[in-house]
Amino acid sequence: MPAKLLEGKSVALKIKENIKLEIEALKNKYGVCPKLVSVQAGENSASEIYIKSQEKIAKDLGINYELKKLDAGIKQDEFIKAIDALNRDKSVNGIIIQMPLPQHIDAKIISRYVSPLKDIEAVHPQNMGELVFGKAKILPCTAAACMELLNSIESLELYGKEAVVVGHSEIVGKPLALLLLNKFVTTTVCHIATGQRGTLPDFIKKAEIVIVAVGKAGLVKGDWIKEGAIVIDVGINRVEGKIAGDVEFDKAAEKASYITPVPGGIGPLTVAILMRNVVEAFKQQQAK
Ligand code: NAD
Repeated sequence: MPAKLLEGKSVALKIKENIKLEIEALKNKYGVCPKLVSVQAGENSASEIYIKSQEKIAKDLGINYELKKLDAGIKQDEFIKAIDALNRDKSVNGIIIQMPLPQHIDAKIISRYVSPLKDIEAVHPQNMGELVFGKAKILPCTAAACMELLNSIESLELYGKEAVVVGHSEIVGKPLALLLLNKFVTTTVCHIATGQRGTLPDFIKKAEIVIVAVGKAGLVKGDWIKEGAIVIDVGINRVEGKIAGDVEFDKAAEKASYITPVPGGIGPLTVAILMRNVVEAFKQQQAK
């Protein structure tokens, strides 16, 4: 079965249109626009590209964007003080910490210091905890992007479906498993130990929904995909100068009903959801 492409662009466009309308209404009501501050310690060419694209998208949507540059040699306690100042600054609605951080800074500790109200990446334990209860309003961007793509398939009823998530990171696999469970999807999470045991194909072959977030090109073979399955490939790998996902795309597309291209699948949606989180954070702060 030749699969239909699940492209993130059109879904992202709808989300962005809604954000614009919402910001217009918020501006009329409160007289200000939401503000996002991006914190970068030191220089990094990969995050420069990311920051520029974030800034452009934010400004296009009407979100004020500020880049706060910290010295590469900044001590961890000074870094925490800088975040605390942003937490206390009422004009700042969302904070994003650009990765990677210099090696002497512990990214996991730093993330805990961002106020949960301004944690637009939803990495603070409090926001993670809300996910467990199905109450989170600020959602981890990539995991939420996967759900948006699934929701964009009109004929799809998630209730009772069987899904396999490959990858159990704090930013993708684990929150995604919770989002799926909250929709009553029977969810299996596979990870490095599943790969080492050699049972990854056994799980994937039975799955109606396969979501892969590992970072290893071609890890999931096309012939493992069940006929008619939905395949979402989150992986980003550089192969011979090109970007490729974790799934053998051509072969998987022969069996799947829907499949994401890489690039062009999850990527465009993730940043749209980040911006939606800024608006959500703004609204929550106004309600306090
Ligand atoms: P991570 O390194 O934190 O986690 C990788 C996961 O893969 C772990 O759970 C690990 O156990 C599992 N794994 C490793 N080898 C395996 C194997 N052989 N078999 C089964 N599981 C295995 O990665 P991450 O931050 O979750 O990112 C995963 C991928 O998704 C990367 O390629 C990353 O670039 C991409 N990503 C894309 C976006 C986007 O917006 N498109 C956002 C975030 C991450």
